[in-house]
Amino acid sequence: MAYDIVHHEYDAIVVGAGGAGLRATLGLAEAGLKTANVTKLFPTRSHTVAAQGGISAALGNMGRDDWRWHFYDTVKGSDWLGDQDAIQYMTREAIPAIIELEHYGVPFSRTPEGKIYQRPFGGMTTEFGKGPPAQRTCAAADRTGHAMLHTLYQQSLKCKAQFFIEYFALDLLMDDDGSCKGVLAWDLATGQLHRFRAHMVILATGGYGRAYFSATSAHTCTGDGGGMVLRAGLPLQDLEFVQFHPTGIYGSGCLITEGARGEGGYLTNGKGERFMERYAPSVKDLAPRDMVSRAMATEIREGRGVGPEADHIHLHLEHLGPEVLHTRLPGISESAKIFAGVDVTKEPIPVVPTVHYNMGGIPTLWTGEVVTLKNGNPDSVVPGLMAVGEAACVSVHGANRLGSNSLLDLVVFGRAAAIRAAQLVKPGQPHKKISTTSEDRALARLDRFRHAKGGSPTAKIRLDMQKTMQKHCAVFRDGPLMQEGIVKLKEIIRGFRDDLAVADRSMIWNSDLAETLELDNLLGQALLTIVCAENRKESRGAHARDDIKERDDTHWLKHTIAWRVGDEDVKIDYRPVHLQPLDDEVEHIPPVARKY
Ligand SMILES: Cc1cc2nc3c(=O)[nH]c(=O)nc-3n(C[C@H](O)[C@H](O)[C@H](O)COP(=O)(O)OP(=O)(O)OC[C@H]3O[C@@H](n4cnc5c(N)ncnc54)[C@H](O)[C@@H]3O)c2cc1C
Repeated sequence: MAYDIVHHEYDAIVVGAGGAGLRATLGLAEAGLKTANVTKLFPTRSHTVAAQGGISAALGNMGRDDWRWHFYDTVKGSDWLGDQDAIQYMTREAIPAIIELEHYGVPFSRTPEGKIYQRPFGGMTTEFGKGPPAQRTCAAADRTGHAMLHTLYQQSLKCKAQFFIEYFALDLLMDDDGSCKGVLAWDLATGQLHRFRAHMVILATGGYGRAYFSATSAHTCTGDGGGMVLRAGLPLQDLEFVQFHPTGIYGSGCLITEGARGEGGYLTNGKGERFMERYAPSVKDLAPRDMVSRAMATEIREGRGVGPEADHIHLHLEHLGPEVLHTRLPGISESAKIFAGVDVTKEPIPVVPTVHYNMGGIPTLWTGEVVTLKNGNPDSVVPGLMAVGEAACVSVHGANRLGSNSLLDLVVFGRAAAIRAAQLVKPGQPHKKISTTSEDRALARLDRFRHAKGGSPTAKIRLDMQKTMQKHCAVFRDGPLMQEGIVKLKEIIRGFRDDLAVADRSMIWNSDLAETLELDNLLGQALLTIVCAENRKESRGAHARDDIKERDDTHWLKHTIAWRVGDEDVKIDYRPVHLQPLDDEVEHIPPVARKY
């Protein structure tokens, strides 16, 4: 079918208006580039709005701190899979980044002296892991993401960035030489298609938590940027590392922030024991997320869960008192009431480990530039394309992200990408004609879904995928379980290809079609996740195999990169981890066993 397409030309385009996309947009507009932001959601409805606990930076407002300790904790938290150059950049820039947010207007909570309030978070320590826990996580009560997102949106508007809201980006426009030249998008409200040409496209589309059945992320977290990158023939990195947050509310999956344990909350099993004392004797309930989730799953598996089916764990906050709960954790008190029917001042909250964050994503350098493996060069830059935020894999989180390091990643690398783009793109540079191959392919894909006449509705295929991932690639995994999952998932992918049913053929507010496009993006990333997890023959960070329990640095201290080939196949290769920091302000941290 022929579509009439509205043509736009910009210096730079950002896809996504969460924390990462807004910070990049703001930086580009401030640098004088003609910038458009294309977003499927109204900016302040992006998932960043739900971030509760806070954003890390070694400000030292509430005890001694040093960004080098933050650097050490992040490298160790990543189980040594994080790139140390990028981690140095992030932890050092954290301090000016928070001050900048404060000046932009983020209403942080305060200490009695008027400094930014900071709470303890899992895995954040002092003295290179030898000192007491650090109070490093800056918070605006338990609504930090909400405060950041509103502030960044207002600042972007002030700089005259242009927003195309509720425009769904379909695909990247790639030229024959492999460079990115823009995106094709669908205006959900009018049905009109738009071609956005740009010299730099920055993907800030967030994670793909919805590949799983139970996730803390919004239903809109469908990894659209990763899907576009795979269709452009580029790889994704480290998708096998999926973070389970220890405290999703049992049943709904709604998040209870780690800040709850930061404020003194603790977990108990069915026998009322504080079991974390056995698993992480020094930091206990404030161990990193992968460890707490595994400890909880082990308690449940060994019959020591809570409830009639012994299938969850209790999180206690009652002892904190109504005053602390009201001032520091008002939002989660409300969530516990609505989603678990629990009054947190009186009773514990039923919780289970729930999918929360994707450490993997689009591989980039610390400048935001997307890289691929080409002619033996593992850091070969893809011209015209950047990625930031949860969609990207910089990689600062490696095999396991520390809580409050994601909001930090968004602002630090959103800013870094804008700085790099401003060096690469001159305002007003003309746009040359490009090959139409990628646009034709994008339109054919849209048409194929729009007119799909099979027997399986999108919602059913999506549920099958989510249940398969939840069962076969969760907190604990082993070879046979994952191999079985791969067979099932490939069958689901074939069903999606051959038997998909889309009922609505219109172009206006066609949520059936939008969800189908999202499902296509999810399926590709689900497939890569489970195939790469089966392929990685070790346990590291969030990737915990029952059949191979040890980390194996000799063979596996490397990033996985994977391409989707056809519908069902995956090609795997590797990139070395950047073990050296950027400069001599910090020393490289050599791998050792990760104990807390
Ligand atoms: C409940 C919850 C609580 C969290 N709490 C914390 C915390 O306290 N501290 C912390 O550090 N981290 C936290 N995290 C993690 C962190 O919030 C996220 O990783 C981060 O907000 C992701 O931001 P982002 O900008 O990358 O993407 P998002 O905020 O998810 O935004 C994605 C954007 O991309 C756009 N988009 C997507 N697809 C398309 C498309 N096809 N076309 C156009 N636009 C598109 C959307 O419109 C949206 O604007 C939390 C996560 C969750 C789920």
